[in-house]
Amino acid sequence: AFLSQFIYEKIFLHYTLKQWQCSPEELDSSVFERVPVVLSKDNRYFSDTFQGIPIQGYTQMCENMCKSELITLELDCDYKDVAHSLECERIFFSGAIDEFFDYELGELPYRSLYFEFMRFEREYFQSNSVINYPNNYDYTRIGEYKYFLDSKTPHSIVSFEYPKSWSRGDERYYPVPNAASAAIYEAYMQRAKALKNVYFIGRLGEYKYYDMDKVVARALELFESLS
Ligand SMILES: Cc1cc2nc3c(=O)[nH]c(=O)nc-3n(C[C@H](O)[C@H](O)[C@H](O)COP(=O)(O)OP(=O)(O)OC[C@H]3O[C@@H](n4cnc5c(N)ncnc54)[C@H](O)[C@@H]3O)c2cc1C
Repeated sequence: AFLSQFIYEKIFLHYTLKQWQCSPEELDSSVFERVPVVLSKDNRYFSDTFQGIPIQGYTQMCENMCKSELITLELDCDYKDVAHSLECERIFFSGAIDEFFDYELGELPYRSLYFEFMRFEREYFQSNSVINYPNNYDYTRIGEYKYFLDSKTPHSIVSFEYPKSWSRGDERYYPVPNAASAAIYEAYMQRAKALKNVYFIGRLGEYKYYDMDKVVARALELFESLS
């Protein structure tokens, strides 16, 4: 009991107040289940046996996936601006479901973040890829990306992540899972069911936090269910 109280206060309580600007009771337990408590000397980012990222990074991976004559890309435009000219059998919408429906049933809440990138003229800034600061400083964590790709450079680029409230127009980062947002999402899903061949996918379409592996698995699952 002492250990659990100690960990709760040192890691969950103050971190939640800082990151989410609310107390842990106001959020679904799913938020905390993403932060496993591990007693181990494994200093990798996750605890999966196999961990990795695409050799040339995600940007290159996505660019490779789009290299097909069957795929036309239109970038830097909003779905609503091109929707009228789309001729397709199915739409897979990876944007925010409430935005799709012009917020008719209310706005789904999000948390946002502010990243401050800094360059340091030394090989490494910190001792690990990501270090969290639940109790001190205004930032919640510092990420040092070169650890992921094991880059060998004399300098290092580091990001300081600051929690930020979200308002419409900001980048959506984390859904805020609680009873109120679940009710709004459910109401939109009812609307969505009435639409034929429009699928709401991904972290924004499903209003759910997904890690990369999970969101890719989810997309493949949907594909299988349709083919
Ligand atoms: C801060 C943060 C840190 C993360 N860290 C990790 C991590 O360390 N490891 C990990 O595995 N996962 C991490 N993730 C999760 C990972 O980023 C997501 O799982 C993944 O990006 C979800 O893919 P997606 O396709 O659902 O959404 P996105 O990658 O957000 O793609 C949605 C796309 O739809 C486009 N779009 C949205 N609305 C419109 C519109 N109206 N018109 C046109 N286009 C639109 C967007 O521009 C975007 O390109 C993190 C997520 C966040 C927010």
